[in-house]
Amino acid sequence: MHTTETKDKLFSNLKTYFGYDTFRAQQKAIIETVLSKKDCLVIMPTGGGKSMCFQLPALSFEGVTLVISPLIALMKDQVDGLNANGISASYFNSSQSASEQDLIIERVIQADLKLLYVAPESLASLQNIINEKYISCVAIDEAHCISSWGHDFRPSYQQLGFLKGTLPNTPFIALTATADKATRTDIAKQLRIEHAQQFISSFDRENIELEVRPADNRISQIVKFINKTPNQSGIVYCLSRKTTEQLAKKLKTNGISAKAYHAGLNFEERSKVQESFIYDKTQVVCATVAFGMGIDKSNVRWVVHYNMPKNIEGYYQEIGRAGRDGLKSHALLFHSYADVIQLRNFASGASNEAFQIAKLDRMKQFSEATTCRRKILLSYFGELLAENCGNCDVCKNPPQFFDGTIFAQKILSAVYRLKQAEPIGTVIDVLRGSQNATVLDKGYNQLKTFGIGREIAYRDWQHLIIQLINQGFCEIAFHKNNVLRLTEFSNKVLFEGAKVSLTKPVHIPEPKVKERVKRKPKSTSKTRVKTVENSLFERLRQLRYKIALEED
Ligand code: ADP
Ligand code: MG
Ligand code: ZN
Repeated sequence: MHTTETKDKLFSNLKTYFGYDTFRAQQKAIIETVLSKKDCLVIMPTGGGKSMCFQLPALSFEGVTLVISPLIALMKDQVDGLNANGISASYFNSSQSASEQDLIIERVIQADLKLLYVAPESLASLQNIINEKYISCVAIDEAHCISSWGHDFRPSYQQLGFLKGTLPNTPFIALTATADKATRTDIAKQLRIEHAQQFISSFDRENIELEVRPADNRISQIVKFINKTPNQSGIVYCLSRKTTEQLAKKLKTNGISAKAYHAGLNFEERSKVQESFIYDKTQVVCATVAFGMGIDKSNVRWVVHYNMPKNIEGYYQEIGRAGRDGLKSHALLFHSYADVIQLRNFASGASNEAFQIAKLDRMKQFSEATTCRRKILLSYFGELLAENCGNCDVCKNPPQFFDGTIFAQKILSAVYRLKQAEPIGTVIDVLRGSQNATVLDKGYNQLKTFGIGREIAYRDWQHLIIQLINQGFCEIAFHKNNVLRLTEFSNKVLFEGAKVSLTKPVHIPEPKVKERVKRKPKSTSKTRVKTVENSLFERLRQLRYKIALEED
């Protein structure tokens, strides 16, 4: 138990060393638990203030608090920050010379350090001092890295299991912003702190507006989005290194100050990008997921996902980099089936394939939601939001259901006519009567269904087809070239008069009163140009998919 004196000490340390007057939400309870030498598992969103939960107790312990941290670059920043606040801290890693390392070990022995940051790989070199004589507390930052169920698994973290055996009476505090229950349990199990007290903060970041849009013309949509609020910082997350570079280039040609960031750049290049972003010299960073961990920039106003993230944890963590100052911010996600297919391909063959695919499916459901997105997001983290949030695209623009039976019939009959052998893109091309190379080569322009859906835009057909898939009326054969296939329920729509309720994309025009006159394509010079143009577009589209295919 703590006397008032130690409690006063906590507040005065908070003020003296960190300059803050009050604790945030659960910080105080966590700090007190650590000081009473109990293990804790802290789940707190990015920017929530996890570091304080071990940095402040470290000041009160006699020995050293060992902080396990995944990235050498982050360690240095944190240690510099602590030293600047007058706290005796250092780090230990492979970038240091033997004599530097000896010096640090000596400081531990002399009890001259309050915090020692170390990468899991370097623990073996610290064997001699990892005992309860010197170590008072162990903090495992970014603890999700230990779980292959988390989104950022690092094999080196698995060595941490032995620590509790060596330090059975030392309080352990594991911290992460990744919160699904399975990962949480796995972290505690792997660290052998099953009885740890869990502190789970609310994951609601109400200040971030959530929006999902179909991915066609992503680049021009992004340019428009950025130009709506000029000079405001943001991050565009992309799946591949190449995309980050191409996009940064595109943005620059549109007069936007943008830089690419990915793990393929060397340390110096990465630091440069990071710094110029933090100091507002670069407005936009086009980045892979390598960017962001530990970046403390409070005025990131928006985060765009150029590609769909692998899972909700990743999405949540990435959008969480926006609006850390609590001011109004925006998260925009582009949803494309090509991305889903790609992510499925990445997952296939992995040892935990089923697990990854289940997580991807949750991400997909979020993207295709017709109910409040924040409710879905929070329910993923085990939180119940009583009311709709009013700050997501679905709340702001609730979808209207309409009788979509005719559209469903058109789609399914096209799938049938195409012998269930073509992907979504070709099905739509046939519906829209596009005379591109594939369509003409395969003679699809002779089909009865050719051109029966000209009045509807490509992306609207996409929207409708995705809903049909979600309702089980057709499916994508992921292991057969992603062709669109019928299901046992298709017949109900095609032959048994079943009604299909769909939501309206904003772009669907009211049905025209007059049916268009059907025209057979004539090979005039004008249509030939059109055909070449279309096939170029098709080629471009395929290329775009290919580019996105190259994983980071
Ligand atoms: P996390 O590790 O959870 O992402 P950090 O520990 O990096 O978050 O903290 C995020 C920011 O919040 C930092 O700038 C930190 O100084 C600040 N912070 C932490 N605790 C408090 C507090 N009690 N009062 C005010 N600011 C705080
Ligand atoms: Mg942190
Ligand atoms: Zn909502």
